[in-house]
Amino acid sequence: MRLRLIAGLSAALLAALAGCSASKIDPPAAGAGPSEASPAPEVNAAPGSVDTTPAQATPAPAALDGKFVVTLDPGHGGDEPGAAGYGIVEKDSNVDFALRVERYLRQEGVEVVLTRRDTNHPAGVTAKGNAGTRASLAERVKIANEANSDVFVSIHSNGSPSEAQRGIEVYWESRREFAAANQQLARTVLDRMMQATERAGYSVRDRGIIDASCWRGFGGRCVGLYVLSPAGQTTLRGSPQAKVPTLMPGVLVELLFISNPDDVAMLKDDAARDAIAQGLAWGILDFLRST
Ligand SMILES: [Zn+2]
Repeated sequence: MRLRLIAGLSAALLAALAGCSASKIDPPAAGAGPSEASPAPEVNAAPGSVDTTPAQATPAPAALDGKFVVTLDPGHGGDEPGAAGYGIVEKDSNVDFALRVERYLRQEGVEVVLTRRDTNHPAGVTAKGNAGTRASLAERVKIANEANSDVFVSIHSNGSPSEAQRGIEVYWESRREFAAANQQLARTVLDRMMQATERAGYSVRDRGIIDASCWRGFGGRCVGLYVLSPAGQTTLRGSPQAKVPTLMPGVLVELLFISNPDDVAMLKDDAARDAIAQGLAWGILDFLRST
């Protein structure tokens, strides 16, 4: 049953399993469509050019002295751009966010692993199309597990056919043995991101934390997010190999909407990006300190 179901998955659903579906990409405004989109200058900023000076108003949690490992997963990559519009391409924006969060975490003594550091899929994934998406998703989980990570955070930005949709939301999974930890992590990172952006002078809509166990309905069944869901929940395209899940608490963050002009203004604002990254990092630190 599952194999037949999965065999019928569309390319759009495969992309959806990655976190942001093709159907969620905003209908492009004139001159700002996906085919013409290019990353804003700051999106591809090298790590050394990122200003990681913490805002003075928000105290950082205590240092953790290398005790924990965090895997950060910039969503999409390669020939799968994610959402795009107004000069922002999600796959590249996601890497920029991850590099900023990495810096904040390392400052506090956390070991950080990134599933990818450039515009491509994770290293070693050369396939394209659906096969590339499948391999890419599996590789992200594998990287987090092989690093013995304490926390997994997949980083995305949203897109919607409705330009009015805006804000930040965080997905967690209830069908895991560490569901309570997933929920707690979602809560702490969202709260910290809202605090950090407010103190930096930005108005961000709080869209809340969302259980991703039925992220999409498909054929009368619930389909979760690949990188958060349990074993066997998503065996893509009838692959005989069952899905291996992450072994640690994790969340998927959707950092603003690439389809909303106000959110895009923040995505193109270096200080706003840094406030979001700082909040995400310190939310992760709050969670680690509580474990
Ligand atoms: Zn995405």
